[in-house]
Amino acid sequence: MNNNELKERLELLEKAGMDRRHFLKLMGMTGMLTVAGTSQIKAFSSNAKGKIVIIGGGAAGISMAARLMNWLDEPDVTLIDPSELQYYQPGFTLIASGVYQPEDVYKKQEACIPSGVKWIKDSVAAVDPVKNEIRTQTNGVVAYDFLVLTPGLQINWNLVEGMTHETLGQGNAHCIYDFEGAKRTWAALQEFGEKGGRGIFTDTYTKHKCGGAPKKICLLTEHYTRQQNTRDKVKLDYFTAAHELYDVKYYTTRLEEIYKERNVSITLNYRVKGIDTSAKKVFFNKVEKVEKEVKDEQTGKLTKVEEKIVTPYTEDYDFLHFTPPMSAPDFVRDSGLGWTEGKLAAEAWVMVDKETLIHKTYNNIVSLGDVAGIPTSKTSAAVRMQVPLAAKNLISLMEGKEPVEKYDGYAACPIITEYGKVLLCEFDYDKNPKPSVPFNFMDMSQEQWLAWVLKVYILKPMYFYGMLNGYA
Ligand SMILES: Cc1cc2nc3c(=O)[nH]c(=O)nc-3n(C[C@H](O)[C@H](O)[C@H](O)COP(=O)(O)OP(=O)(O)OC[C@H]3O[C@@H](n4cnc5c(N)ncnc54)[C@H](O)[C@@H]3O)c2cc1C
Repeated sequence: MNNNELKERLELLEKAGMDRRHFLKLMGMTGMLTVAGTSQIKAFSSNAKGKIVIIGGGAAGISMAARLMNWLDEPDVTLIDPSELQYYQPGFTLIASGVYQPEDVYKKQEACIPSGVKWIKDSVAAVDPVKNEIRTQTNGVVAYDFLVLTPGLQINWNLVEGMTHETLGQGNAHCIYDFEGAKRTWAALQEFGEKGGRGIFTDTYTKHKCGGAPKKICLLTEHYTRQQNTRDKVKLDYFTAAHELYDVKYYTTRLEEIYKERNVSITLNYRVKGIDTSAKKVFFNKVEKVEKEVKDEQTGKLTKVEEKIVTPYTEDYDFLHFTPPMSAPDFVRDSGLGWTEGKLAAEAWVMVDKETLIHKTYNNIVSLGDVAGIPTSKTSAAVRMQVPLAAKNLISLMEGKEPVEKYDGYAACPIITEYGKVLLCEFDYDKNPKPSVPFNFMDMSQEQWLAWVLKVYILKPMYFYGMLNGYA
């Protein structure tokens, strides 16, 4: 089946309205049935009782609501979320590169919330995990027996000096981690592709959702300028805050080769400090860690300590794609639900057990998705795997049993390397490749056209019709 046939059939299915039968038909048609099977957890039912409140109705919150409604005989589920719309955020990259139209990536939230779930359209201001109470912005206090904490993450625009959410796009400084930002990026990218100049692309030093997104927009920009025959007018540079381009070795080799083949430079250990949008300058700190030996005055013993060397740098740009630092939402930190020590403490990611996804202090709270403090990538592919086992573990808690389901850290990041090709990175906590799609006849350490078909045509309906309905 070629791209166009697939697209036409998908459009027909969308028009017909997608239910479970249509969804399974679509998956079968594209050979994706194995993708739809997220775990060994079979459908079951439980008569466990208790009031469940879900904070945040994005990828994780709605999928959890769907599973709980399916598996509990008498579900009592309340969702708190202020959003009118449900966004398929992986589509933001495709808006920014002209593949999707903006209206392709959202649906009304009320159409996504499973029937029977009570929706409080509000924002959470605080949680009191000792009293089992939630304070909302305008609807007062909501009590719970069990809490599902899935508010996603907070983008800290203010940590990039000279930039705010409102000024995003000014001075040709863009960011696709925002719906409006993705739209502006596409307009700017087309202009840049015509005029040429210097394009700078950056990531950030905190954990951020879809670590591949800054690389995708960089490589798509490169390919776009080739398609426009303006590649020779453009210089492209990628600055990463990390000490390597990608941390899953199986895929890194090819990714580095691609950057080299395309003549896009990679600079390591650079963090964006600020942007001067009127002068089109981006300010970096180069942060290097060196080991030093320190002598104890009394014992004379030498011990090794790590020292940070920070060197400021400034670069001029014509087109900039930057990634702001990200963290757990403030209310998570303020409510004492985040890690207080270790690598995940600075951004207050929720302190959960990395296998059961149950809070380490409060065992009536499960947390998953971007907000969870676990050492894996923050992607909706990861969420899809987390949901069934988090729901099962929550039900075990409600039944007074030990939770037994264990998450292995599976996450996936389809890195679009050009229009028509994707390097489909799938891995676990140990950063070992963990392919879940039925593409084992291909070398998945290389970019593939079929992975592009999956990314552009399959994953979006799988999100809206499969995952959010508890089928995938
Ligand atoms: C540009 C971009 C590209 C991406 N590409 C990919 C990709 O290719 N593949 C992939 O798998 N993933 C990708 N992702 C990541 C993916 O979208 C996220 O990992 C996923 O959406 C996380 O789900 P979540 O439910 O944790 O958070 P979200 O989906 O962000 O949902 C959070 C919800 O919580 C609500 N909320 C927030 N604060 C509060 C509050 N105080 N009170 C109540 N509700 C609140 C919000 O309104 C929202 O509905 C990408 C993301 C972006 C931005």
